[in-house]
Amino acid sequence: MDGTISEPGAVCLVFVDMNWRNIGVGIRSTWYRLYSDYLAPARMQDYRDLLREFIDHGYETHSIISFWRSLNSGSDISAGRHLILRHDIDLDCGAAKMMHDIEQQVGARSSFYFRLCTLDVDLMKQIEQSGSEASYHYEELATLIKRYRISSADEVADIVKEAQSLFAVNYRMLKEMTGLPLASVASHGDFANRAVGIPNHYLLQSQDLRDCLGIEVEAYDSKLMAPVVARLSDGLYPMWWNPISPKDVLKRGDSVVYILTHPSRWRRNIVLRFGEDVNRVVEGLKYRLPLSGRNL
Ligand SMILES: [Zn+2]
Repeated sequence: MDGTISEPGAVCLVFVDMNWRNIGVGIRSTWYRLYSDYLAPARMQDYRDLLREFIDHGYETHSIISFWRSLNSGSDISAGRHLILRHDIDLDCGAAKMMHDIEQQVGARSSFYFRLCTLDVDLMKQIEQSGSEASYHYEELATLIKRYRISSADEVADIVKEAQSLFAVNYRMLKEMTGLPLASVASHGDFANRAVGIPNHYLLQSQDLRDCLGIEVEAYDSKLMAPVVARLSDGLYPMWWNPISPKDVLKRGDSVVYILTHPSRWRRNIVLRFGEDVNRVVEGLKYRLPLSGRNL
């Protein structure tokens, strides 16, 4: 078919074809999601191999804060090869510990960001003592968007101050609990952020808030990202990486590479994953269904 439509019958055929194609794409992406979340074997060995390959190619590994500080120290970043490693602990602290152990074995350092629901104070202290960084993966804006069932970006303005106050309370509590500097923080991405089109790190546009809490850098800051040549994150089967694979980056020999991983995607944990999926469905229903009025 060349895409030219001259008869009603042809129009119907195109729609039927498009619908089948959409259904096929939907089934395929659901299968990829199910396979990645529930069936794929652990890939921790792949992570070890990946780190070794980068180190063998002359890359110096960094946490977010170590890279930020070397950037600000005036050292010539373009002179060497740098690999910034960030882990968002959305779900599975056990998998985070496995990744940290691997990094210890190969001599790599990185940043691990924990949500309030995945806090593991002992592990955070171990990470920090090893020369890596453990800090906060925050989501206060999304929490309030869901609590007040906000559905547009315009309404978010009404809750920014409250979300910043909540962030400050949680951040200080975490600092006290862990005794760690938490000099960098990283924004979590939630369906609620996508629903209104505003990320959690919108809260940290306030330099006053950063100064008052002692936050040096946010993981999405443009000044931090400016020297990054390749930025990739782990994804679903069959690609496993977005937007390109680390092997392609290694072939190019990019000077500054930023890799984001989610440790829960690197080993199978059916119980945790199922609980998370159920929680997501319940949260989505509470947010979208008119079961109760808005609380704002
Ligand atoms: Zn996250």
